Amino acid sequence: IEALIDLMARLPGLGPRSARRAVLAMLKRREALMAPLAQALASVALNARDCRSCGNIGTQDLCPICADPSRATGEICIVETVADLWAMERSRAFKGRYHVLGGTLSALDGVGPDQLRIPALAQRIADEAITEVILALNATVEGQTTAHYIAEAIEHLPARLTSLAQGVPIG
Ligand code: ZN
Repeated sequence: IEALIDLMARLPGLGPRSARRAVLAMLKRREALMAPLAQALASVALNARDCRSCGNIGTQDLCPICADPSRATGEICIVETVADLWAMERSRAFKGRYHVLGGTLSALDGVGPDQLRIPALAQRIADEAITEVILALNATVEGQTTAHYIAEAIEHLPARLTSLAQGVPIG
């Protein structure tokens, strides 16, 4: 039980206290919660992999979004992380496909374009007849540096480049 609490406490958003509470809650509902959770964890650990096209996480070579022909709208939305992709999907506002960079350019952390799937992006724009590239990067310095870099990297391609509106409406 201590080992389980130690592992749970390493998860984002959980410290030792909440890990202990979560483990106690699971022990109380061993059949209904703990056993299915253990099964789900084992299954995801075994089967989850990166989509070879967009970088989303799925269980097949291509994720469900890339495998769905109705998502081939000619639009591609560029996000930093899989969490951003999932957030966009929950909003149901976008019907095209995604490209997950896996981070932002950072000279300080030694993250260059090759680590960010940017070369693969240019290839996809050409291969999938993409007409619009939508940048959905964070409004941080790194996010904006990355946006500028991408704009230059795909400048020679015919796709139109747009970005999400930013800022918080007042009132
Ligand atoms: Zn995919």
